[in-house]
Amino acid sequence: MMKTDTKCVQAGYTPKNGEPRQIPIIQSTTFRYDSSGEMGRLFDLEASGYFYTRLQNPTNDTVAGKIAALEGGSAAMLTSSGQAANFFALFNLCEAGSHLVASTAIYGGTFNLIAVTMKKMGIDVTFVDPDCTREELDAAFRDNTKALFGESIANPALTVLDIEKFADCAHAHGVPLIIDNTFPTPVFLRPFEWGADIVTHSTTKYMDGHGAGVGGAIVDHGVFDWMAHAARFPSLTTPDDSYHGIVYAERFGKEGAFITKCTAQLMRDLGSIQSPQNAFYLNLGLESLHVRMARHVENAQAVAEFLARHERVKEVRYPGLANDPYHARAMKYMGNGGCGVVSVTLDGGRKEAQRFLDALSLAAIATHVADARTCCLHPASTTHRQLSDAQLAEAGISPAMVRISLGLEDREDLTDDLDQALKKAFA
Ligand SMILES: *Cc1c(COP(=O)(O)O)cnc(C)c1O
Repeated sequence: MMKTDTKCVQAGYTPKNGEPRQIPIIQSTTFRYDSSGEMGRLFDLEASGYFYTRLQNPTNDTVAGKIAALEGGSAAMLTSSGQAANFFALFNLCEAGSHLVASTAIYGGTFNLIAVTMKKMGIDVTFVDPDCTREELDAAFRDNTKALFGESIANPALTVLDIEKFADCAHAHGVPLIIDNTFPTPVFLRPFEWGADIVTHSTTKYMDGHGAGVGGAIVDHGVFDWMAHAARFPSLTTPDDSYHGIVYAERFGKEGAFITKCTAQLMRDLGSIQSPQNAFYLNLGLESLHVRMARHVENAQAVAEFLARHERVKEVRYPGLANDPYHARAMKYMGNGGCGVVSVTLDGGRKEAQRFLDALSLAAIATHVADARTCCLHPASTTHRQLSDAQLAEAGISPAMVRISLGLEDREDLTDDLDQALKKAFA
């Protein structure tokens, strides 16, 4: 059994004698067959094989296989973006009239997807505080609830989810727990080991790691028993008329039903597959993920400690800091801060925060996180610029708060740059 570091480099692809060492990019929309009978069996899902890249492509499957191995799942698929991954993972269980329970501490794009767009499709949601009591969590479930959703480390709130508690509760109500594991990646946290059933990723972030390609992934643990909850999940446990009455949970079992349905039905109908070229770039990122993640965390820990000591800093939030509200949970689930993102509130206001950002030379101002190059964002003047200081306070964001995503540069160069920018901001 390979360990995580070896899986990052080698899982998913073992070339045979004389075959290419690096994964081949199968840049082909279609695949040729000797007889229409053979092709027909593929269309009926009676045989496995490739016929059209909108549904499946060998390059993507190689890379998805590596991500499945890293997470410890039974099957995985790549999607065109992290947004698509979360949408497909949720919609694979839902239809008009369904209900979801989701943590409030999630990525803004996912919040909009669930609260606005899926709502328009007739799918209702109840949002819960990630730190709510078991009783409050229990109260959010209904007869038509299909999944519980949360982020292992929330972007940008940096809350660490109590996955065990959420998994226990989801299972008590007969639904799977879906975890967006984008921030810690399977290098630091494997949600299946704590009871999660489905994991999603925005591979755009650390997995790609170089700011090169937008993408997503869905992984199934292969353990949730759909047939034991057949009435709740009719789309997996009753015949699919668009495949001559196939019953996914019967034909493909616990290990294969979720990803097969998501590929054969949702990818076929909604078409959001990752391009094989991007899957190739993603695999280059994965080959060094374990090396890079360690460095992202080292830099974030060093910068968080430096900022916490700085006289011009009011507050630093990083799960790796001993006084962070999520420190104990981060230690339990990951053994460290888990990601390279730190949030800092300066001892000033909106003006000082802006002057600080403008004075930085290594850290670029960008709406991005989790890339090799350090970048930072001032929510009050960008993503949340429509809000007054009073409205910002309601949203829990200080006008002097800055989010920094630490890259892979030298740690002293980074703290020197932050130090000179803090001096200029308060000059
Ligand atoms: C960025 C992000 C997403 C959305 O991913 P895209 O690849 O930008 O579509 C979803 N979840 C988390 C936690 C993210 O950080």
